[in-house]
Amino acid sequence: MESLIGLVNRIQRACTVLGDYGGDSALPTLWESLPSVVVVGGQSSGKSSVLESIVGRDFLPRGSGIVTRRPLVLQLHKTDDGSDYAEFLHHPRRRFTDFAAVRKEIGDETDRVTGRSKMISPVPIQLSIYSPNVVNLTLIDLPGLTKVAVEGQPDSIVQDIEQMVRSYVEKPNSIILAISPANQDIATSDAIKLAREVDPQGERTWGVLTKLDLMDRGTNALDVLEGRAYRLQHPWIGVVNRSQADINKNVDMIAARRREREYFQSSQDYGHLASKMGSEYLAKMLSRHLEAVIKSRIPSILALINKTIDELDSEMSQLGKPIAVDAGAQLYTILELCRAFDYVFKEHLDGGRPGGERIYGVFDNQLPAALKKLPFDKHLSMQNVRKVVTEADGYQPHLIAPEQGYRRLIESSIAYFKGPAEAVVDAVHFILRDLVRRSISETQELKRFPTLQAELAAAATKALEGYREESRKTATKLVEMEASYLTVDFFRKLPQEVEKGGSAAASMDRYTDAHLRRIGSNVSSYVGMVMDILRNSIPKAAVHCQVREAKRSLLDTFYTQIGKKEGKQLTVLLDEDPATMERRLACAKRLELYKNARDEIDSVAWAK
Ligand code: GDP
Ligand code: MG
Repeated sequence: MESLIGLVNRIQRACTVLGDYGGDSALPTLWESLPSVVVVGGQSSGKSSVLESIVGRDFLPRGSGIVTRRPLVLQLHKTDDGSDYAEFLHHPRRRFTDFAAVRKEIGDETDRVTGRSKMISPVPIQLSIYSPNVVNLTLIDLPGLTKVAVEGQPDSIVQDIEQMVRSYVEKPNSIILAISPANQDIATSDAIKLAREVDPQGERTWGVLTKLDLMDRGTNALDVLEGRAYRLQHPWIGVVNRSQADINKNVDMIAARRREREYFQSSQDYGHLASKMGSEYLAKMLSRHLEAVIKSRIPSILALINKTIDELDSEMSQLGKPIAVDAGAQLYTILELCRAFDYVFKEHLDGGRPGGERIYGVFDNQLPAALKKLPFDKHLSMQNVRKVVTEADGYQPHLIAPEQGYRRLIESSIAYFKGPAEAVVDAVHFILRDLVRRSISETQELKRFPTLQAELAAAATKALEGYREESRKTATKLVEMEASYLTVDFFRKLPQEVEKGGSAAASMDRYTDAHLRRIGSNVSSYVGMVMDILRNSIPKAAVHCQVREAKRSLLDTFYTQIGKKEGKQLTVLLDEDPATMERRLACAKRLELYKNARDEIDSVAWAK
């Protein structure tokens, strides 16, 4: 079986390539859930030395100040064929066999991201080392915890480093390799202070004590190494790295390992612990532990991956497909979007979505109420009837019925219907406009395209204005038609009026009150009949001219317009909100990462 560490290594590399190195709350992160060994310690505590011992190579940048300014993800792969080289993820096809060049590349690559400003960056550098002298292991080297910024570095760097280190050690899946120098009181160790905070039970902290050889003569570190000074679940491991003098003399790492082994074997103080000390033992233990942790975490990682894939999938379908580049496909997309809008709009009118019933409300409530409020009482009052009828008679009173008077009263009454008729047309117009607006905002597919939304809304509103004009003309015409030809039958059925006696003619008044009242009431019932007709026909006009047309041809002119557009103008219409485009891209990358990871895990028979 392939090692589980190798599996996590591959997923880790995919994370870096696809921009997941944790901490980015806008997207789900896989990086954070991967078990890894994180090296922490104060400056000069010996972190780099421990890493080099574990690798058996001299490859880390050195110097005063904060040298490590980006996380270094160090993936160790044991080779069986004797091959021995290093590879950076950012230089996929370049094999480094000269480790001095590796050191230089780490420094250069650090500067590439942080600039020469000496700032720190959370973007990791990934380095793989293939060697027969390593165990399978992944270690993350972080900037050393420090108290003071050196010249050229901003003061904030102290907190920034602490923040970055903390973000790594806080992850429950991280194994903390806490480096403390033996020639310093363990109570003041930066590594232990931090580890105690994030892992108070000491369950995932491995204590490493460096510089045992530098302790004052006559003192030893047994209190720490035997777990009495600070208790951890895993036993403390002491190491002896190369001293500065060794480094200056270029003492070979393999020779240094041998010397370390001899140190413990011959030590008066640590002889009894010799088999459980030294960097080789440390590497072996860490490898074994990391493997076990990975194995135990894989089911939950897989569950997380599956859940996240579902979430990303559904977000991607919400965001919609990316837009085609050729004009034909773009036109097709626009027409599809229009169709989607049209569908929603029709649902509003035909039911399925609310809104259409408001039109019926106009016909059923608003129109009758408006008709009822027309001032016919006053218009057909005895005084007004008298005024209109006498004016119509002119100098000669009529002989039988006051024909002209009737006509004038009826025509002037019918003219009152124009107001409610226009109000119906306007009310329907505003409802339709509102439904267009709502349909646009409810058309999921349109959400991404603010420009298209605006143009669609403008075109639809313009079409609705045209329908309103048509509808207004038609409704007015209906009213005018009622005034232009009166239903003769109605009057034939009225009881014939006979002027009684000559007394009326003789009086100054041409009409008796009773006669005028009867005229008023006859006109009123005729107007009532017309009102019934218009109460039915005005809604028909509105539906015919506005609602039916909106359903039929709301976007017709818009279609003609876009048919004439050139490729560039179509692109403008499909101008997406840049945030949406970015988000889609980011989600797609993350999704790819998660799917790759799932495939990777599936392909490893980890059940073994
Ligand atoms: P870092 O800042 O934590 O990475 O520390 P380094 O690994 O660069 O070590 C700081 C200095 O301590 C270097 O000069 C090392 O040679 C020296 N050093 C580290 N570990 C030991 C050790 O176990 N014994 C001795 N004598 N010197 C050590
Ligand atoms: Mg260092």
